[in-house]
Amino acid sequence: MMDVEHLKKQYGDNLVLNDISLKIKEEVTCILGPSGAGKSTFLRCLNLLEKPTGGDILYDGHSILDTSYDIRKLREEVTMVFQHFNLFPLRSVVGNVMLALQSVKKMSKHDAHDLAMEMLKKVDMVDKADKMPDMLSGGQQQRVAIARALAMQPKMILFDEPTSALDPELVGGVLDVMRNLAHNGMAMVIVTHEMAFARDVSDRIIFMADSVVQEDAAPHEFFTNPKTERAQNFLARFL
Ligand code: ATP
Ligand code: MG
Repeated sequence: MMDVEHLKKQYGDNLVLNDISLKIKEEVTCILGPSGAGKSTFLRCLNLLEKPTGGDILYDGHSILDTSYDIRKLREEVTMVFQHFNLFPLRSVVGNVMLALQSVKKMSKHDAHDLAMEMLKKVDMVDKADKMPDMLSGGQQQRVAIARALAMQPKMILFDEPTSALDPELVGGVLDVMRNLAHNGMAMVIVTHEMAFARDVSDRIIFMADSVVQEDAAPHEFFTNPKTERAQNFLARFL
């Protein structure tokens, strides 16, 4: 559904993405790699939170870099979940999920509320619908952020280290929600350091280091037989 062609991103003279070409399919792709590899930058280029400095990204065959391309359509269909949740502090849980439904999808308040409650059910947060975000744990806030991303009824969700800001005991609940989405066929691209999750849930592993894709393999292959020394060293740290 996305063709990344010779993607480049440069900050000053720091080349962060160096000629990346790959296809993102309707499956679960995990992106692994050391800090500074360019994982977040790559993910953010996929929905144009960052503007590439070279190459192209085609979504359903259309270049998203084309000046005539409707970026709102892309952002509705490819939603993003961040490490730090980014909930609106002055809105209730259900209000957070409703917001884009009313402003972007132009749904009535009533319909937006119904759909938001349905999404909160998927992340097991219905009983907290009327709470304010600061009354929730980090794990609960992240589940609300996932409900908000789901409410757009996206074709794909991008996750940038969704559990790395969480206390260890809260990580499992968020991963359970994501595992459930995977089992229900949601296409996802997930930057994560959760190796067991990546191994068990993903269809594909992309390993990035030094601004390039070093390995692109099925999880079984990547975890049992990493080809590059870079990946071998990276994995050794998790054993
Ligand atoms: P981490 O695992 O620590 O999140 P990452 O693989 O996500 O790392 P990126 O955040 O994509 O790495 O950063 C890759 C490189 O790009 C780093 O050298 C970083 O300093 C640089 N970089 C990222 N964003 C910017 C920015 N907005 N301006 C300048 N440099 C940036
Ligand atoms: Mg990052």
